[in-house]
Amino acid sequence: MASEISSHQDVDPRFTIIIGAGPAGLAVGACLKQAGIPCLILEQTDKVGSAWHRHYDRLHLHTDKAHSALPFFPFPKDYPRYPSRLQMINYLEAYARQWQLEPRFGQQVSAVRPVDGGWAVETQDAHYQARQLVIATGYTREPCLPTWPGQNSFRGAVLHSSQYRNGEPFKQQRVLVVGFGNSGGEIALDLWEHGAQPSLAVRSPVNVIPRELFGMPILAISILQSKLPPRLADALNAPILRAVMGDLTQYGLRPLPWGPLTQIQRSARIPLIDVGTIQLIKRGQITVRPGIEKFTEDEVIFTDGQSSQFQAVILATGYRPRVNTFLAGVQGVYDEAGTPLSSGDESSMPGLYFCGYSVASTGMLREISLEAQRISSTITRKQVRIGTA
Ligand SMILES: Cc1cc2nc3c(=O)[nH]c(=O)nc-3n(C[C@H](O)[C@H](O)[C@H](O)COP(=O)(O)OP(=O)(O)OC[C@H]3O[C@@H](n4cnc5c(N)ncnc54)[C@H](O)[C@@H]3O)c2cc1C
Repeated sequence: MASEISSHQDVDPRFTIIIGAGPAGLAVGACLKQAGIPCLILEQTDKVGSAWHRHYDRLHLHTDKAHSALPFFPFPKDYPRYPSRLQMINYLEAYARQWQLEPRFGQQVSAVRPVDGGWAVETQDAHYQARQLVIATGYTREPCLPTWPGQNSFRGAVLHSSQYRNGEPFKQQRVLVVGFGNSGGEIALDLWEHGAQPSLAVRSPVNVIPRELFGMPILAISILQSKLPPRLADALNAPILRAVMGDLTQYGLRPLPWGPLTQIQRSARIPLIDVGTIQLIKRGQITVRPGIEKFTEDEVIFTDGQSSQFQAVILATGYRPRVNTFLAGVQGVYDEAGTPLSSGDESSMPGLYFCGYSVASTGMLREISLEAQRISSTITRKQVRIGTA
């Protein structure tokens, strides 16, 4: 299959380029293959699912496998309900094999621009063109790295959660985890399991939900309720969540004035899906602190004026998609922070699609699966039109 063509050659109308060989890029590739549409996946690393190779060791899916599979390929029956990171890697590799997806590795896309009748894509050593272009470079492409006064003078280690593997190097250490997302919550738990003394810096009010309610995955309940207005579903769930989680204010966690589903809708932030962190907080084994004011050589001073010594600080402060870094010349398809304005449908630029940028209560992997199928259907319809023109 011809794939790499110089920018002055004619654009093959049947050709689709996908950037990224994570779950989203693979899912789009499989759907296109199934529809008989030729495609090429460009991936900057040397493997599929590269993000899952880098995540911390303890990670398991927070969403159940029944609602997290990519199109046409369920997770193996012998996997647990919440597959581990390594099982997810095996699954993605098996997925690529099943659909004979052979990404072109070592191709870091540095620029994308519209050209007559299609899209030109530049990597460090090649130019490609295609009629249709799918961007699947991930919501978590670049770590958010906030800074505080005095941080440069701090003698301990400061690392982002993307650099954290496990708690082994932090045994016996006082470690501050900054951020109360799912990575922050689980890393604090992992640190405690490895004999460290973790604290969690939680700047803002939060929502916390259990991974399961009455033996049912919380995701399955969210999917059932997804047709209800979020405020109504939150009002229905509030008494149950209060009974299950208890009053967390006494442990330093202030509740958001709105519920988890409204939170996702308003701020595109997933609440903490608890996998054991809250029990450790209740037992005093993880201490909750407020936001950070500044650092000294060996201390962190918090916004309430209190301070404590720490040997290490782990920034579980999230990520940004930052598609603007390679889409600089394309206007109107992403916001000022570089987050795509659409996901799963053709963008406002003809032939340009984003997949994997919906933060939904129904699970990102589930959304990726649905978006990939929609994108593939749109591309197939367009091709039929071109073919019959
Ligand atoms: C710690 C963590 C746990 C998660 N757990 C869950 C969960 O339990 N359930 C759930 O539904 N979702 C979960 N998610 C969210 C989401 O499902 C995953 O992040 C998933 O991997 C997203 O797939 P993706 O293909 O969109 O992005 P990624 O997996 O990030 O893949 C993007 C790919 O694009 C490549 N790429 C990026 N830029 C370029 C470029 N310029 N040129 C070429 N290639 C490029 C990257 O190397 C990467 O291989 C989790 C996310 C994180 C961070």
